[in-house]
Amino acid sequence: MFFKTIDFSKYSSIKVGQPTEVLMIEKEDTIPTDRYLIGGANNLLVSPTPPPLMMLSKDFAYITEDNNILEIGAAMPTGRIVSYAKKHDIAGFEFCSKLPGTLGGMLAMNAGVKEYEIFNILHSIEIEGKWVAKEEIAHGYRFAKLSGIATAARFEIKKGFSQKLLDSLVNLRSNQPHNPSAGSAFKNPEGDYAGRLIEEVGLKGFRKGDMQWSEVHANFLVNVGEGTVEDAKYLIDLAKEKIFEKFNILLQEEIKVL
Ligand SMILES: Cc1cc2nc3c(=O)[nH]c(=O)nc-3n(C[C@H](O)[C@H](O)[C@H](O)COP(=O)(O)OP(=O)(O)OC[C@H]3O[C@@H](n4cnc5c(N)ncnc54)[C@H](O)[C@@H]3O)c2cc1C
Repeated sequence: MFFKTIDFSKYSSIKVGQPTEVLMIEKEDTIPTDRYLIGGANNLLVSPTPPPLMMLSKDFAYITEDNNILEIGAAMPTGRIVSYAKKHDIAGFEFCSKLPGTLGGMLAMNAGVKEYEIFNILHSIEIEGKWVAKEEIAHGYRFAKLSGIATAARFEIKKGFSQKLLDSLVNLRSNQPHNPSAGSAFKNPEGDYAGRLIEEVGLKGFRKGDMQWSEVHANFLVNVGEGTVEDAKYLIDLAKEKIFEKFNILLQEEIKVL
């Protein structure tokens, strides 16, 4: 293992944070238990005082095929997974296109688009050296209860990459803001949409400092300049408060504040 300085104001998708020492884990290392693992930082807000951080090194960014099984390392970026699937005519990963992050982040969040979620196509996850079948892992909408750090995952290979499906899912994204963001700030409550609720309480487009509830898609917190975690937290708490007052619904954050 070795340390690397990562500037989260550049690395994170929401462009918030500062240069921070991150412990890089290599293949032969025992994974520390006292550090928080970062993937591609597409669902994170790194505060000025984050916990000690770590990341999987490029040793964990690989794809191999063995008979009918595709094995992917947890540090593999989603874009490269989609390119591989396309090149090798493999079905199931089309929804990962334009869903920024690494396989590890997708597994931990059970990331997905519409009815397509990573757990739907998953066979098993390697968690700290032990392969665990999908059936043994509690999971649901934007959540998976991993018992530790995921280092790789396996998928049964099904042939037939669909460019048509990919195009239709990418098309759905046309309503997403272009400013830096960390994806949806809140999970959708059952039977409703967090974005609709944020709009209903008048917060769509509402700004604090350089952080803003997006004018394009209300459930996206966007950084329109030098946004800070403090401003983001203010907007998150304000939305929760107003929505609870008006609808008696307590929204749950999807975004993670470190
Ligand atoms: C513009 C934009 C659009 C987005 N659209 C969507 C969308 O449509 N659907 C959706 O689901 N998400 C969406 N997201 C959120 C994000 O793409 C996903 O949550 C993605 O899976 C995050 O991956 P990451 O590697 O960046 O994880 P990070 O943000 O780095 O981490 C997220 C969580 O995963 C954990 N984690 C990361 N790697 C591992 C590992 N190896 N083992 C265990 N835990 C791990 C982290 O500890 C953290 O708790 C969007 C984000 C952006 C910026």
